[in-house]
Amino acid sequence: MPPKAARLNPDALSSSSETQLRSRPKLLKQSLHLTTLWCLQCFRTSLRDWDSGMPFEPNCWIDTAAPKLCRRCSTTHGKCDSLPRGIRGHGFELMALLEFAKQFWANDEGGFGRVDGADFLWTNEVIEDMSHAINDLCTAFDNLVKTHGKAHMLTGNPSDASHAQYVLYGEAKTVYSAWCNAREHMISSNSTYTSDLPRKYASRATEHLRLRVGEEAYTHWAVAICAFHNASKSAFEDDQENDQESDLTSFDEVFPLELPEL
Ligand SMILES: [Zn+2]
Ligand SMILES: [Zn+2]
Repeated sequence: MPPKAARLNPDALSSSSETQLRSRPKLLKQSLHLTTLWCLQCFRTSLRDWDSGMPFEPNCWIDTAAPKLCRRCSTTHGKCDSLPRGIRGHGFELMALLEFAKQFWANDEGGFGRVDGADFLWTNEVIEDMSHAINDLCTAFDNLVKTHGKAHMLTGNPSDASHAQYVLYGEAKTVYSAWCNAREHMISSNSTYTSDLPRKYASRATEHLRLRVGEEAYTHWAVAICAFHNASKSAFEDDQENDQESDLTSFDEVFPLELPEL
């Protein structure tokens, strides 16, 4: 190890240490899966292309060497929109439900999906019903995002806008940012952490901004959560009727979200 003065002052490093530093790669080039910070473009594309053979998850990757846009949006030279800050908590609610729903795609090899000759643990009917439930849930979530964006004038592409539109877009962003700041007090800071992923995401949902009851698109999203709850509850109850040996687990103990009041 070089003397302390040399460690603090890079100019004082010996020439061999300098060569070692120069030859070291600046940043490891790799692709990372954005499991919760996925972009809206990848979310929509993944939903459209989902064949329900595997659990649904947004397929959004980012290269560490060029992390400005995700890999897909870099290729398409399109927009790469993240979830607006004012509804990020609802994004975690969606993630909690998608993680919870993965169990319906569990196979008898301990993995997910019908791969390498493995069979699903749940019936095809349950998987089909849950595929519809996930499609409906994700569509409702996308409607929430679009309605929220329109309500706060966050839509549009500033790169093709006229100067006047560009100024308006900038003003809308500033007003939106102030709107979000004024709501920060609504966020709970005493959530508990757990290694159970659906519950962890449910807890994260309380740490980010969400809409208030009655605000634009809130009711539609709340109804979608309840409909998803009912669809997965039916699947659990049907399974327990068929399996005499299974414990009668209370479904509401395993469902990760508190149901919204309608
Ligand atoms: Zn993406
Ligand atoms: Zn993107």
